[in-house]
Amino acid sequence: MKRIYLDYAATTPTHPEVMKAMLPYFTDSFGNPSSIHSLGQEAKEAIEKARNQVAALIGAKSEEVVFTGSGTEADNFVLKGVALANQGKGNHIITSSIEHHAVLETCKFLEKQGFSVTYLPVDGYGMVDPSGVKKAITGKTVLISVMHANNEVGTVEPIAEIGNIAREAEIYLHTDAVQTAGHIPVDVNKLNVDLLSISAHKLYGPKGIGALYIRKGTKVSSFMHGGDQERGKRASTENVPAIVGFGKATEIAQREMLEEAQKLTVLRDQLIEGILKSIEHIRLNGHPVIRLPNNVNVSVDYAEGESMLLNLDLAGICVSTGSACSSSALEPSHVLVAMGLPHLQAHGSLRFTSGKWTTEEEINQVLNVLPGVVSKLRAMSPLIKSSK
Ligand SMILES: *Cc1c(COP(=O)(O)O)cnc(C)c1O
Repeated sequence: MKRIYLDYAATTPTHPEVMKAMLPYFTDSFGNPSSIHSLGQEAKEAIEKARNQVAALIGAKSEEVVFTGSGTEADNFVLKGVALANQGKGNHIITSSIEHHAVLETCKFLEKQGFSVTYLPVDGYGMVDPSGVKKAITGKTVLISVMHANNEVGTVEPIAEIGNIAREAEIYLHTDAVQTAGHIPVDVNKLNVDLLSISAHKLYGPKGIGALYIRKGTKVSSFMHGGDQERGKRASTENVPAIVGFGKATEIAQREMLEEAQKLTVLRDQLIEGILKSIEHIRLNGHPVIRLPNNVNVSVDYAEGESMLLNLDLAGICVSTGSACSSSALEPSHVLVAMGLPHLQAHGSLRFTSGKWTTEEEINQVLNVLPGVVSKLRAMSPLIKSSK
């Protein structure tokens, strides 16, 4: 059975051109970039080329880009690094209640260390209100961190507006752009941000490599201590092949992003329309228009997310759900709960995220299979009967 992959927000396949660019750095050009000899210098040059490529994608200067071990690491780096470096000014951080766990769990950790964190609410579309950010600012606020687009429901946040507020208050603004970089335009100056996280494997690069943009002059403590790699901000012998692959992926993204976004928007809207037409008691989660071109997230009443996921998987369709079965309890997604969804709907959510190689036939196949999966599960559900 040929599998239909609609989970590009979880990870993307590595682009063949990216693979090809990486290979020589495992073999012939294996040098340590810190070595003075020519083999080392070759590796160093490859890193600097990749840094230029990544910087170009986000409108940054290359010396403002620090490579990290992942998107998660970039988020940890920002929150801990800004909190530690700016203790003289204050100990308050503002974030949103729908951030990725990489941000939320780091904030919880910082709270245990004595920092204070405000988690801003969102509206029914998962949108943060910039005026709420303004109201949350205190004399002790050192950082505002709001994601560029949400990974579950795809809503794109008003970062440029929040940026104006942060500028005026002279507070650093960070955005987690892991879901947007390489997919929709991301420019650190237009967004008015001081810090921005990206991850390669969400844009057709390899896993285990990310980057943090740090605007010149921003006070952030080093994340790893050791050698003077990454200007002393992140010691470790660099993962040269991954960095080269990341650079290549951002170069391809610059070339293909706009056309791809157009294609995916059409497929997205076909999928949304088709689902809403063929299945009853179902709703779209996230903003209807201000959303990622590749994201469809729906809540299906009287059908449990994980059961739908497993049934779709049997039909060869890979998707994601907001309700993850943890060890004991079935926990609904914190994003859907923050958006005010009742638990019934939060438990019945499905996320379809398309990408570079998604076809119209695949979308049609989902539309053929999903109604049957839903009615089968509903036939077994005690909830639907009691609601009638
Ligand atoms: C995937 C993701 C991350 C984590 O990136 P990794 O490189 O997988 O650690 C962080 N934030 C968002 C919004 C993501 O989608």
